[in-house]
Amino acid sequence: MPTDLTEKYDLRVPRYTSYPTAPHFTTDVNDSVYRDWLGTLDPQQPLSLYFHIPFCDSMCWFCGCYTKIVNKYEPIRKYLDVLEQEIDLLADALPGRFSASHLHWGGGSPTLRTGGDWLALVGKLRHRFDFADGAEIAVEMDPRDTTEDYVKALASAGVNRASIGVQDFHPDVQAAINRIQPFEVVERVCGWLRRHGIDKINLDLMYGLPHQSTERVLSMVDNAVRLEPARVALFGYAHVPWMKTHQKLIDEAALPGANERWHQFEAASERLEALGYRSIGLDHFARPDDDLAVALEQGRLNRNFQGYTTDAAAVLLGLGASAIGGLPHGFAQNVSPLKEYRETIAAGRLPIARGVELSADDRLRGDIIARLMCDLAVDPQAIARQHGVDEADFSAELTRLEPLVADGVVVVDGDRITVTPEGRPLVRLVAAAFDAYLEHGEQRHSRAV
Ligand code: SF4
Repeated sequence: MPTDLTEKYDLRVPRYTSYPTAPHFTTDVNDSVYRDWLGTLDPQQPLSLYFHIPFCDSMCWFCGCYTKIVNKYEPIRKYLDVLEQEIDLLADALPGRFSASHLHWGGGSPTLRTGGDWLALVGKLRHRFDFADGAEIAVEMDPRDTTEDYVKALASAGVNRASIGVQDFHPDVQAAINRIQPFEVVERVCGWLRRHGIDKINLDLMYGLPHQSTERVLSMVDNAVRLEPARVALFGYAHVPWMKTHQKLIDEAALPGANERWHQFEAASERLEALGYRSIGLDHFARPDDDLAVALEQGRLNRNFQGYTTDAAAVLLGLGASAIGGLPHGFAQNVSPLKEYRETIAAGRLPIARGVELSADDRLRGDIIARLMCDLAVDPQAIARQHGVDEADFSAELTRLEPLVADGVVVVDGDRITVTPEGRPLVRLVAAAFDAYLEHGEQRHSRAV
């Protein structure tokens, strides 16, 4: 991608883990609306569960998650009790006993829990939900607070995929983001995971961090691949200090500019592909035999709040403070403040703070955006026909795409829109052309690349 385009398209657009995106959720969706939605679900259809554990023992300065720093176990213990109550409330609100096909534990650091608490909580879940045969049980891990006994407990609880937060291995970069985590620490945790049968390992890497250069990013990729992950996520650091005030601790002068970010992403992508990984959507890579690569091949790749997924369930229930779920009716997000979360559940209400009920137009645009983000190509008219619209008018969207066509980011051939290999890092901009909520000008989101 020529340098002038890296500057021209340094716009800020959503990551489209949902459409409409979270800033457009409103308080119209509450406990009562959510209960109505839950009441219509079919127990014969499997669902997915997401659990948010919003605690960490120190703050990484790049962090964009909802988390709280704790230095005692007591708040976590109390939170887990409330989470158990939320499981009961939710299971009671469902019209029957459901089976879970995907379970994902994110945070924060889900690894802060003790092994015993893991087993207790999964036991509680099994009491209220069935687990489908071959269910994926995935957990995000902070290798700095992981022990072998803890990994053993995860394996006993049925965990079969682990995503390890790495970011970068270089000590200067780690110091600049307040996350000291030498390569050997990550290597040791990978060894424990494999020894105890959890061999689906994802590594989460970042580019665009302070003091990263293209050379350092390539070295990070080479080191990561030595650990033989099944998947690699390569996230661009989103510097949004007006939203995440701890990011003010990051030295802005040490951040790579838009052009350098491009080079870092492109160089890392090429290196991962040369090392045998398939590129998936915007920012993921997977070995050809990994489920994600197979799903892409078969046109089954999906996107949800956790990023790219093979999860095909139409229902994702979010549990825990700030967790977001998606139902065929719309999206719903739990309250974030821990006190409010606790008190709402104690009062017997589901802790829904906000959400959005999907209109027919939201569903149509959401499908177009999902296909673009997953397949990097879409036929919007074909999607419209699937939604019962014979001849949709996308002239405004096509007009918005014209500059991207002129710059070789995207090709429009008849009704089909295809993002070029060079345009892949800009797929969010292509998706944004179909976003009816976006004022089509400069936005306060993270950088597109
Ligand atoms: S461990 Fe993860 S969630 Fe916790 S502060 Fe660091 S990046 Fe954020």
